[in-house]
Amino acid sequence: MSILRATTLLLLATISIVPVAQAAQEVNLYSARKEKLIKPLLDRFTQQTGIKVNLVTGKANALLQRLKSEGRNTPADLLLTTDAGNLYRAQQAELLQAVESKTLESSVPAHYREPEGHWYGLSVRARTIFYANDRVDPKELGSYAGLTDPKWKGRICIRSSNNIYNQSLVASMIAHQGVAKTEEWVNGLVKNFARRPKGGDRDQIRAAAAGECDIAIANTYYYGAMQTSSKERDRAAAKEVSLFWANQDSTGTHVNISGGAVTRYAGNKENAIKLLEFLVNDESQRWYGEVNNEYPVKSGVEISGTLKKWGEFKADTLDLHLLGKYNAEAVRIMDRAGWR
Ligand code: FE
Repeated sequence: MSILRATTLLLLATISIVPVAQAAQEVNLYSARKEKLIKPLLDRFTQQTGIKVNLVTGKANALLQRLKSEGRNTPADLLLTTDAGNLYRAQQAELLQAVESKTLESSVPAHYREPEGHWYGLSVRARTIFYANDRVDPKELGSYAGLTDPKWKGRICIRSSNNIYNQSLVASMIAHQGVAKTEEWVNGLVKNFARRPKGGDRDQIRAAAAGECDIAIANTYYYGAMQTSSKERDRAAAKEVSLFWANQDSTGTHVNISGGAVTRYAGNKENAIKLLEFLVNDESQRWYGEVNNEYPVKSGVEISGTLKKWGEFKADTLDLHLLGKYNAEAVRIMDRAGWR
């Protein structure tokens, strides 16, 4: 063999090895979940597996838009969002692929994942009723439906209808009881608003504490964040307000998930699945729930002290992909009712 030929072969061998070695060791994550709520887990994943995680954070809508415009050239392998409705939208836009994993299937209950494996829930949050301790007797409360009673006129705070958490709450009602009854409920609820919707979930709890309204609807982890806040004002406001588990005599309290999905054009699909599986192991589930005052999706995992104080509750077991299915109908009902 000539020297030239041997050199060429050596060169070819070198060239063919390098890209393979690089590609095998990373996963690209688009996350609608804030960096501080996920980064420590990603670091631990890298420590344990040697797989580097490249993290891009943003609002869910912006990340979906980015996935759409990047098409098959997207670097993203995995998408994390904080509402099943957004995962459904991503699936409808054909931005996701179904993946199978025995670990995911055994760890994530069926109603917290898409039936074909297009997405998997990673943590659970409830959207329930909060009441001002000095103006509401919890005996007056029961279900979401009860909030349309005229006795609550001018007493309820809730954020705007363009927020997906409210859209998902209304969508869950459509799934349970159909459009007509849900429309009645939304109309009745809007009539009882204390003010034009503004602010986020924390602002509704703060408003109930400040006497602007007597009832607030909010996600549980915001209340947990206020109870454990470094801000004295938020801790004080949380003390004025208590949590009430809605619908305990019927369907259970409305819950939603933060979840993950492998993108349609994932170049690192195996690593993406490995990361999802890592996020549902017991240790990750405990941390992931605790850092944002959420509940684990996996049963048998211990919850934080803050959540234990709220007591046990019956959660709605509705298949959460239905929240996406009825999202458009929910938005139309809220628009018709004048829910701003
Ligand atoms: Fe949130």
